[in-house]
Amino acid sequence: MSTKQTGKVILAGAGPGDPELLTIKVARYLQQADVVLTDRLVSEDILKAWVPADAELIYVGKQCRRGLSTPQETINELIVEYALAGKLVVRLKGGDVSIFSNVLDELQALAANQIPYEIIPGVTAALGAAAFAGIPLTARGYSTAVRFLTYYKSDVVSEAYWKELAATDDTLVFYMSSETLDGVVANLTKNNISADKLLAVVEQATTPLQNVHVSNIYAYNEQLKGIKFISPSLVIIGKVVGLHEQFNWLANSNSREEYFKPVAKLFTTITDHTEKVKDHVSRA
Ligand code: SAH
Repeated sequence: MSTKQTGKVILAGAGPGDPELLTIKVARYLQQADVVLTDRLVSEDILKAWVPADAELIYVGKQCRRGLSTPQETINELIVEYALAGKLVVRLKGGDVSIFSNVLDELQALAANQIPYEIIPGVTAALGAAAFAGIPLTARGYSTAVRFLTYYKSDVVSEAYWKELAATDDTLVFYMSSETLDGVVANLTKNNISADKLLAVVEQATTPLQNVHVSNIYAYNEQLKGIKFISPSLVIIGKVVGLHEQFNWLANSNSREEYFKPVAKLFTTITDHTEKVKDHVSRA
């Protein structure tokens, strides 16, 4: 039996895009890492600045709408394999670790293998977009709460919940929903959301390529419908969106360029590693 000590896994948020929104703690762990497994929505500049040249860097992106994705099982296996080999593994996720991510699968895999870990938060896209678009999410007199939601497929929000979402004064933030935005707007207007609510789509928030599109929710069909928003983008709905006009401190880039590389470009690396994992499993 091997006497090698188990390593450790750092589950870390890399922030929404701007590489300077990385925490000092994550930067320090990246500098010490033996292996870094990174999501697609992590700035290349972070990897260039903080990952040591001799560390192993593995892209495990997911981009389901383009039909390309590293299976979660493969990611779990890679993390476990490297940690059991005694490595310090940093698992970097876009934004925050716990918001719309598969961190639970990874935590369960770590627990099942008794691998030590730490969880380090990151700036989630909603907070990055709110700051860089000048939209204070719970501005006094406008809203007393904010909800993080998703409508990436039509059955994740029930009829009864749409009714409540249309009635509330809470600010609504939809992740992974710019492609289903017609449905979001249709469901809210059908349930008579009040006409003083505005909608913002923030493309590539916090990056130099950021664009903010704003419309009154009832003017959506004339003003925004049909636009193919650049990935990633985030939807903010509420009265607070009206504050953007006065407090937008960053001009739109008006660029259609993509800040984050598509997964396709990185897919060969993933396949190599999938083979490696299979090989490892069959030897075990
Ligand atoms: N864990 C991430 C979210 C992962 S889900 C976080 O905390 O931010 C991926 C979704 O997040 C995207 O579809 C998009 O809606 C949103 N997102 C992530 N980064 C973004 C960015 N820079 N600008 C706009 N939206 C972003």
